[in-house]
Formats: sequence, structure tokens, C-alpha cells
Amino acid sequence: MKVSFKELGLVNTREMFAKAIKGGYAIPAFNFNNMEQLQAIIQASAETKSPVILQVSKGARNYANQTLLRYMAQGAVEYAKELGWKKPQIVLHLDHGDSYELCKSCVDFGFSSVMIDGSALPYDENVKLTRKVVNYAHKYDVTVEAELGVLAGVEDEVSSEVSHYTKPEEVIDFVKKTKCDSLAISIGTSHGAYKFTPEQCTRDPKTGRLVPPPLAFDVLKAIEKKLPGFPIVLHGSSSVPQEYVDMCNKYGGNLPNAVGIPEEQLRKAAKSAVCKINIDSDSRLAMTAAIRKHLAENPGHFDPRQYLKPAREEMKKMYIHKIVNVLGSNGKAR
Ligand SMILES: [Zn+2]
Repeated sequence: MKVSFKELGLVNTREMFAKAIKGGYAIPAFNFNNMEQLQAIIQASAETKSPVILQVSKGARNYANQTLLRYMAQGAVEYAKELGWKKPQIVLHLDHGDSYELCKSCVDFGFSSVMIDGSALPYDENVKLTRKVVNYAHKYDVTVEAELGVLAGVEDEVSSEVSHYTKPEEVIDFVKKTKCDSLAISIGTSHGAYKFTPEQCTRDPKTGRLVPPPLAFDVLKAIEKKLPGFPIVLHGSSSVPQEYVDMCNKYGGNLPNAVGIPEEQLRKAAKSAVCKINIDSDSRLAMTAAIRKHLAENPGHFDPRQYLKPAREEMKKMYIHKIVNVLGSNGKAR
């Protein structure tokens, strides 16, 4: 049975991105695969009145079940209203779709936005696959994110050892031929909690912590110049807060040299044509850190609600921080 996202109370990204570019902020794209994450995302978005993109990866669909996730997103719209958010602006987005069939199935299933990631394919094949997905999605007013350039790191089943920056000279041709609605680019962000090897980083002499190489803002600028006003997406943009890494390590974890993208750089990117910033690892870290701490301090607890409640609180705090201090999207969906 096919269902349109409009029946579910969701919106696509078109208007959201247009406003974000004009307003100099970015929309948060948070991945979810369980109830506590979704509750934290919706509570944070409702409280700050921020538009939000709920992202589901292929791995999340395999983990949680595609039908369940779809109804959870539908429930999220109603939950947001219950929290007093009169006009929730919520997108349900497929993260890293790897085939036409998967994208089509999500469109048919009520997603309002899909990503087709053909970035690992030769250029012409990427164009062809993306165009095919766009043709289908646009029939149902579903927006499509495509990708040019390869990110390093691991995210679910997406992995690459090295990154290749997006070539600014290719973007006009790609967007014209595919008619995609937004473009994920590679300017030095990376998937996962280990974005850079210690060799790629320098060390802060005061704290001894790793300092990652800066993002390639010159490449971003060149792309913006070629495609003025066109929505740009940054993947792999968790900042891997050291407080969570430290909390994990203090309470039995082992995450040596985990490092992310500094928030000042993301803030700078959000003020440009970058209008969607993907954050997944930070939520995983916040949740795990809070659970580890709670269980270490309360060895007698075995009711999941006892440790998932502080985990949910910690994620919510982190989401609000991102919305207000990094993306600047608070108050943009009143
Ligand atoms: Zn990604």
C-alpha cells in the first residue's frame, strides 16, 4: 500500500532549504533507530521550534524494521503537536540510499526525502542512477539529495578509506543533468567517531588532545560560486564531544583518539550554502556515555528505564546545543 508523506503530516526539504540558505543557518539531520533517540530529537526540536530532518539509514531499517520506523516517524509528528509545537516541520529522510529500488520503496512508504548515494560510482553512472531516482521521487513531490565526492570513514554500510574532495568543475553539469534538489559534498568531513588518524591531526600542546585538519572552505566557496543558492549538505559532521569520550572511557569504555569536526567550523559552514548538517555519532556517544555512567554508579539497576532516561536527557541536551549553538535553526519553525 502506497502512502504519501503529506498524509503523514511530514514535509519535504524544498522550502526548508530555501529559507535556511537565505537565513544563514542549517537544518539538523539527526539519525534515529530507537524510541529514546526519537523522543529526544522531537523534544529538542519542539522546545526550540527548529525544523528537523529525521534520518533513517539502510542499517537502521535493518535494525529496527522499516514498517516500525515509518510509523514511529508518523507518531513523531503527532507527539510534536502534543508537546505544543503547532506547526511541526519534520522531514523523514532516507540516508545513503544505495539503489533505485530502496529509494523507490521509501518514496512509496511515506518518506518525504531520499538520498541516492552514487558517489562511489563512475561519474556518468552516478548521474544516470541519480536521474532515475529523481524522476520517480519528483512524481510524488519527494525531494532528492545526491552526492559528489567521497567521504572517508565508516557509517553503517558506507565506508571508504580515503576521501576525495568534490570537484567544483563537475557540480553544474551534475545538478543540471540529475535535477537533484540538494548535493552532499566532500570537503574533509568524515563518517564515524574516528574521523581522522592521529597522523592526520596535530596535538593541542596544552591538553594533548588531537586537533583535526580544517575543512576545505576554499572548495566549498568554489562550489557555492558555481551553484549560487543551491542547497549543499555536509555528512559526517559530528564533533565527537570530548566530554562524552572521556565519560565513556572513565566508566569502562575504550575509545582512544576519537575525534570529530570542531563546532566552530560547522557553525561557519552553516552560515553559507550548507543547509543540512548530518549528526549521528554524537547522539550515539551521548547515549552510551550516560548509560555507562549510570550503570557504573548504580550496579543494582536492571530496569532499562532507569538508565535510558538519563541517556535520553543527555541526547536531548546535546541536540538542543547543536540546534542553538551550531546550526542556528532555533525559532525557524514556529
Ligand atoms: Zn553520510
